[in-house]
Amino acid sequence: MKVTVNPTTCIASGNCSRTAPNVFANRPQDGGFVSVLDEHPPEREWSAVREAEMLCPSATIHVRED
Ligand code: SF4
Repeated sequence: MKVTVNPTTCIASGNCSRTAPNVFANRPQDGGFVSVLDEHPPEREWSAVREAEMLCPSATIHVRED
């Protein structure tokens, strides 16, 4: 799995870091905009990452399944 985000579309909702806190962060010093902590998360994180992708209100998160 490869996780990428489009920094131009994030609206800093914070859904992703609540859903998959080991993979996404929304730090106050970044204005709450998303950063990816682990672009190649281990399998135990995959379902949380897919859920975060689904819940993102601005389709900012992209998951490649390879
Ligand atoms: S859920 Fe989407 S819009 Fe919200 S902080 Fe994460 S990437 Fe940004």
